[in-house]
Amino acid sequence: MLRPPSDALLGQLEAMLGPKGFTRDVEIMSPWLTDWRGRYRGASAALLSPARVDEVQAIVRLCAANDVALVPQGGNSSMVGGATPDGEGTSLLVSLRRLDRVRSVSADDKLLVAEAGATLSTVHDAAVAAGLRFPLSLGAKGSATVGGLVSTNAGGTQVLRHGTMRSLVAGLEAVMPSGDRLDGLAALKKDNRGYDVARLLIGAEGTLGIVTAAALRLVPAVGARAVAWVGLENPHAAMALLRRLEGEAAVESFELIPATALALVLTHIPGTRAPLGGEHDWHVLIEVVGSRSADELREHLAIAAADGVIADATLAANEAQAEAFWKLRDTISEAERIAGPAAKHDVSVPVAAMPRFIVDAAAATETRFAGARVIAFGHLGDGNVHFNVRGLADADAGRWLRDTGAEVTRFVHDLVMAEGGSISAEHGIGQLKLAELERTGDPVRLAAQIAIKRALDPRGIMNPGKLVPGTSIVVGL
Ligand SMILES: Cc1cc2nc3c(=O)[nH]c(=O)nc-3n(C[C@H](O)[C@H](O)[C@H](O)COP(=O)(O)OP(=O)(O)OC[C@H]3O[C@@H](n4cnc5c(N)ncnc54)[C@H](O)[C@@H]3O)c2cc1C
Repeated sequence: MLRPPSDALLGQLEAMLGPKGFTRDVEIMSPWLTDWRGRYRGASAALLSPARVDEVQAIVRLCAANDVALVPQGGNSSMVGGATPDGEGTSLLVSLRRLDRVRSVSADDKLLVAEAGATLSTVHDAAVAAGLRFPLSLGAKGSATVGGLVSTNAGGTQVLRHGTMRSLVAGLEAVMPSGDRLDGLAALKKDNRGYDVARLLIGAEGTLGIVTAAALRLVPAVGARAVAWVGLENPHAAMALLRRLEGEAAVESFELIPATALALVLTHIPGTRAPLGGEHDWHVLIEVVGSRSADELREHLAIAAADGVIADATLAANEAQAEAFWKLRDTISEAERIAGPAAKHDVSVPVAAMPRFIVDAAAATETRFAGARVIAFGHLGDGNVHFNVRGLADADAGRWLRDTGAEVTRFVHDLVMAEGGSISAEHGIGQLKLAELERTGDPVRLAAQIAIKRALDPRGIMNPGKLVPGTSIVVGL
């Protein structure tokens, strides 16, 4: 059974970590005790910020010996409250942000080894400096860290061509719940010595140990990229366009954006403007790479327009305009947050079924919940959209969400499960989706997950109450 940290334990940790690595100052801790969406407010007896792997080991050993829970945290950009402790104040928040070195970049092996606290932007910059690139990007790249990206098996806007973090992690170093260091950084292409224990930590949301570093796969730098903004009638037309482009061009990103999401961005994000003159119900943002990418994309879009697949399109004339198009996509979550609360769902269904799912599920949801409006946007080519539902514009959105949100979520998730889909495509389970995972999850898979958790973290100290059913904090005083 877990226990609150004693004064003696806190004293030991403070002495070991020093003033930069240990604080109980409420003001310093405060921003790290609320999640990005502002849905959860947690409490922690102290914020621990180790700067070295041996300090992480010492923290875990001490806490395991005292049955004290640990909540690992990187950039705190989790969409599911994964890095927010519960409200009891009996766990310790462990920030990895000071463990932020890029240890090495090898152009020969196309590998970059970064510590857990390095941000995604830092990784991008280090790869570019070596003439390569790390092909994963998402809106929170300035704050999301390597440890968080690994632990959530993050996706983003380039999964279509390069896969999620699982495809991009070549090796891992982690501190296990015993405090022992697992050295899995050697990026062997072939290694058949049984269970791939290090890879279990990918997508484990801090429940099996603390990731301290990762070896990441890099790809060649792109000679050139072409970015286009397209207006079209519906998600079916978007999928038809994607199918035409696939095989013809190196499509890195293909993001679906409804007019409603674009309108939110134009209203709430300063310095944004619509790329196309006319009004369109749906848009796609496309990025194609390669030396002929601009010509290729222009030709394909012209043919698609002539065939009536798309209504209008514009190609970014330069890098600044390409970035401006991407800003429209990357700030949708931020604009939604400013616009007010909504029931949010990060769902996937088989790729071919996605256009029909978007149209039918939106209609079913808006019929079932009078006044509700669906905004579905995102990674069409991955079969993954963010399916968000807002209440009536003039209603008290917060109250609507409190009264109706859980029912809306169950309704949407049931539609997803009926398609053989997933209730978490890329954000993870955290605390937000734990009950829904238990309700909708495959019992065999859940039982295996619980068994793995018990085997590797028998004292249950790692991020209790997240991802794994039945691990909520029970504190003996
Ligand atoms: C604007 C915005 C856009 C986003 N877009 C996307 C997107 O397109 N695709 C996507 O997949 N996600 C997206 N996200 C979600 C988020 O950015 C990712 O989940 C990211 O991987 C979290 O990284 P982090 O460092 O902030 O982790 P945190 O939020 O700090 O933690 C996330 C989880 O990982 C655990 N964790 C963190 N560090 C470690 C560690 N070192 N060892 C063990 N466990 C650890 C935490 O306990 C928690 O469970 C977005 C978020 C925002 C705010």
